Amino acid sequence: MTLHIPFDNTYAALPPVFYTKQSPVPVKAPELIAYNAALGAELGITAGGTAELAEVFAGNRVPDGSDPLAQLYAGHQFGNYNPQLGDGRAILLGEAVGPEGARRDIQLKGSGRTPYSRGGDGRAWLGPVLREYVVSEAMHALGIPTTRALAAVTTGETVWREEGGLPGAVLTRVASSHLRVGTFQIFAARGEQAALRQLTQYAIQRHYPGADGPMGLLRAVRDRQAELIAAWMSVGFIHGVMNTDNSSISGETIDYGPCAFMDVYHPSTVFSSIDRMGRYAYSNQPDIAVWNLAQLATALIQQAEDPQAMVEEATEIVHGMPALTEAAWLRRFGTKIGLADARPDDMALITDLLTRMAEEQADFTNTFRALGDAVEPDTGKVHDQFQEPESFDSWATGWRARLAQEADPMAVMAAANPVYIPRNHRIEAMIASAVAGDFAPFERLNTVLSDPYVVQDGAEDLRRTPAASEVVKATFCGT
Ligand code: AMP
Ligand code: MG
Repeated sequence: MTLHIPFDNTYAALPPVFYTKQSPVPVKAPELIAYNAALGAELGITAGGTAELAEVFAGNRVPDGSDPLAQLYAGHQFGNYNPQLGDGRAILLGEAVGPEGARRDIQLKGSGRTPYSRGGDGRAWLGPVLREYVVSEAMHALGIPTTRALAAVTTGETVWREEGGLPGAVLTRVASSHLRVGTFQIFAARGEQAALRQLTQYAIQRHYPGADGPMGLLRAVRDRQAELIAAWMSVGFIHGVMNTDNSSISGETIDYGPCAFMDVYHPSTVFSSIDRMGRYAYSNQPDIAVWNLAQLATALIQQAEDPQAMVEEATEIVHGMPALTEAAWLRRFGTKIGLADARPDDMALITDLLTRMAEEQADFTNTFRALGDAVEPDTGKVHDQFQEPESFDSWATGWRARLAQEADPMAVMAAANPVYIPRNHRIEAMIASAVAGDFAPFERLNTVLSDPYVVQDGAEDLRRTPAASEVVKATFCGT
């Protein structure tokens, strides 16, 4: 059986202003690390043998029906507008339409230079490829919208980074599209109104068929993004590079660079080595999402004959975002403490717990999961999470009183509080093993994280917080 992907390429059918047609650059000796067969089946892919998968997902053979291209976009990076970015190390093979009718982009990342590579080599090394594979699949299993990982291969080539020579790799990423805020920004900034209008039509058709014009699109993106950010917050996720080119129109998490899940809870946590000002700190994410939406609004209104006429509506839409994020946050954090349908006056109870967790250096994931065993007084491991257990006890009195109004708070909590998250120190150890040729930790992480809300035999160590010597203080883009 040979590999077959049911391509149906609509982006490649748009005018050339949106991309450059470009094939992936072949690599020396592709070897398959992972193929996500379940996802492949969803996409309608019939897989060939290992050697064929390695060839195709390394970019050495362009599969039938693919019309490869590099997409053009711009974006605000750390608040500064960069007038041209684009896929500098990625190639869109095309769109697969699976048996259920969903259209999904299939993109190679680390597939060689393109006209948008600027100074870069167009390559990726094994570390970020495996990180994105594990974390994006974990995110999906947590129930949070995200791009997916279809395959990973090593290239047999060496990639040079600050750390020295590293094994090269290519990730195959699947997304409901790769349209970003920055895709709109570039045509708006260049005054290319016709392209901007066509892109808006395309995005509406592809993602929000019911949306009415540019402002309908803006509203739809806002609603998805508000849900997404609240979902990130609810699992302690820090994206790390919420630039407008990494902000998806579909509302999926995209571009896993220096991202991280928090261990100890603190609202101002930052991991990314390049985020020196803490712009993308955990608690800033809702505000940054509003800022990014405002950039999308600014771009979208440029397509009107009279942009001023759209300003009022665009402003109203953007200003409506914080209330939506807050409502989604309340709903999610409500379930984390056992409230099936939290009310605005429950907000204080939740924030009080978070304040105590920050003061007591409580582990975010383990504390919330342990709450499920603390519904009855003096039970459970939740005390272990607090340096001063009394701090928890004095909060829990009011909490238990509130739980008396709930039908099944333990079930609500079990479904809202994961047991397993991809902890940084585990990711780092997994990468070190893989570089040394041992992919067993990579496979184990994928297996356990695929069912994150259920306690699994033999996986207790993956719940453990890092020892002092294991704490990861900074994460790197690794580009
Ligand atoms: P990112 O950090 O992934 O959001 O990438 C920001 C921009 O830098 C995008 O235009 C990328 O295509 C480009 N880029 C990142 N790494 C490389 C690389 N190794 N070679 C060429 N371009 C790159
Ligand atoms: Mg990016």
